[in-house]
Amino acid sequence: MKGFAMLGIGKTGWITKKDPECGPLDAIVKPIAVSPCTSDIHTVWEGALGERKDMILGHEAVGEIVEVGNLVKTLKRGDRVLVPAITPNWGSLEAQGGYSMHSGGMLAGWKFSNFKDGVFGELFHVNEADANLGLLPDGLDPAPAVMLSDMVPTGFHGAELADVQYGDKVCVVGIGPVGLMSVAAATLRGASHLFAVGSRPDCCKLAKEYGATDIINYKEGDIVQQVMDKTHGKGVDKVIIAGGDCDTFDQAIKMVKPGGRIGNVNYLGSGEFVRFSRVQSGCGMGHKTIVGGLMPGGRLRVEKLSSLMVTGRLDCSKMLTHKFKGFEHIEDALMLMKDKPKDLIKPVVVI
Ligand code: NDP
Ligand code: ZN
Repeated sequence: MKGFAMLGIGKTGWITKKDPECGPLDAIVKPIAVSPCTSDIHTVWEGALGERKDMILGHEAVGEIVEVGNLVKTLKRGDRVLVPAITPNWGSLEAQGGYSMHSGGMLAGWKFSNFKDGVFGELFHVNEADANLGLLPDGLDPAPAVMLSDMVPTGFHGAELADVQYGDKVCVVGIGPVGLMSVAAATLRGASHLFAVGSRPDCCKLAKEYGATDIINYKEGDIVQQVMDKTHGKGVDKVIIAGGDCDTFDQAIKMVKPGGRIGNVNYLGSGEFVRFSRVQSGCGMGHKTIVGGLMPGGRLRVEKLSSLMVTGRLDCSKMLTHKFKGFEHIEDALMLMKDKPKDLIKPVVVI
């Protein structure tokens, strides 16, 4: 089969590989629609995960099952499925402890385009199909449904990690597609004031549509000062980090109230250390919690989140600014993600 791969750090290209084999609990899926992720960019061009040779990229897809293992009970050939970016081993001790995303080791629930070939191949392998694949609801367009692989569950995980409650003042730092979904999640969870930090006009406009009450442009001054000015010097209850860099944690510590929570879903692709202000952390005693997490993955989560799209409470189609048709355009979509033109929010390739 053909696939678009990371050949090594900083290098990509089309390669041919043996078709994946199906284990008894597994499925082989062919993609119907896929999307590249900013994480693919960190992985290839920043080498953030270390060296990878000839690994097919991609972890966001809707697909059709072409084969299931003999122990798969609830899925069959021909089913159209939602493919979560994170596909844990559900019997692992980590999953039993509530950390499915770390099943088998830190971040090891993230397999596609990390430890094994991803979804930018003509076929791809899914472990524990019953537990990891969701059924694509009837009538749901596969192109926006691709956002259920990663953008929706990750953005929503940011709101879970920050534990957004009714009436909270929330700041979402970064309003690319992940942060936009954090804005949507914080809105659904009842945030009263929602400060969205970004700069690109299209993202800012969409953040407002998803429920942001205020836009904060990080290119027009210190975001901590801007948040403090808007909150009469009090700061926010919760911060969700979905963009920025190692220094963003310090800004989050400074703008969150004592007892506040910071939920990070940003993938720190570079930098050696994360540092934050000793004094602004209450000399370490301010009850300011930082939690950073990979999203949990799995079938239940993806099917529940898809129901928000079915009922129209979440509209992901607004994020799809660039649409391609045809497998061969995967490369174009990935390069677009790398170059990030101003009008790009998220590209999708329908196959
Ligand atoms: P984008 O690059 O599209 O968005 C990044 C956002 O951060 C933009 O709004 C950008 O603003 C803003 N930003 C950039 N620099 C700063 C800064 N210095 N201060 C404040 N804001 C800044 O990324 P995505 O939305 O696609 O992804 C966000 C992150 O989430 C990535 O690191 C990605 O790898 C990670 N991720 C994590 C996953 C997980 O499971 N934890 C899964 C998927 C993705 P501007 O408007 O100027 O562009
Ligand atoms: Zn991703």
